[in-house]
Amino acid sequence: MTTESLAELVRFAPDVYGFRWVNHVAMFIVTDAGVLLVDANGQVNPRTPALIKEAIRSVTAQPVKYFVYSHSAFDHSTGGAIFADTARFVGHRNAVEPIRAAKDPTTPVPDIVFDKPTSLELGGRKIDLHPADLSPTDDYVVVHDPAGRVAMFVDLIQPRNVPFRTLLGHPERIVERLSWLEAKLDFDVIVSGHATPQMSGTKQDIAEQRGYYRDLTDAIATARAAGLAEGAPEMTTLVRSILHPKYGAWRRFDEFLALNIQGMIAWRAGKAPAAH
Ligand SMILES: [Zn+2]
Repeated sequence: MTTESLAELVRFAPDVYGFRWVNHVAMFIVTDAGVLLVDANGQVNPRTPALIKEAIRSVTAQPVKYFVYSHSAFDHSTGGAIFADTARFVGHRNAVEPIRAAKDPTTPVPDIVFDKPTSLELGGRKIDLHPADLSPTDDYVVVHDPAGRVAMFVDLIQPRNVPFRTLLGHPERIVERLSWLEAKLDFDVIVSGHATPQMSGTKQDIAEQRGYYRDLTDAIATARAAGLAEGAPEMTTLVRSILHPKYGAWRRFDEFLALNIQGMIAWRAGKAPAAH
């Protein structure tokens, strides 16, 4: 078999690093007054947070001062307690209850919470935190480091991946927020918290994600105009044949297309699909 890389430490920009374990990526920013870390990714492998701690120590002696939750989902949020000796825990207000309810001693409840854009300052470096605001219950945070020209938006911008299952929010709202990201935030590199097929992208990848939502919407409209029933297998077949030339090579196209269609229809009908 070919050699498989399970873990790696990468640099996205000067002083901005990523640590990957299989398909989960944590990001950290090093300053001379401490480190800001996003996510510990300790659910799939409980030892990942310790690997992240050691990876940080391999590039700086500075301690982690801020641990930022990209959102509450446990594959990304688990395991930050290993940084509790030096770090404050930061997250969206909506992330507090799910994390508290889980009662996982390895995953501290955030004690710096916000629901409006805010900033953290570390060693003269200002790191901006923007609520993704996909819905009233959404707890995703867009992390932006203007100095490093890097942004991180976990799950929503995975280059060359179709969106997750039934979509992580109302499709029009997602497209709106992706446009905002492209137009208003200054960065060269976007990090998605996942690694397959690539750990980072550019504004071009965001435009391609937006394009997918648009093309999926149009293909569903075409299927409706052809008289096919909402979400029926025939609709999926036609939508697949329309989208396949452009998106067939994207990760999880076959796995998630039918769910993407169901999600698109449900969100537009004013029903949030069942939790992902
Ligand atoms: Zn994820």
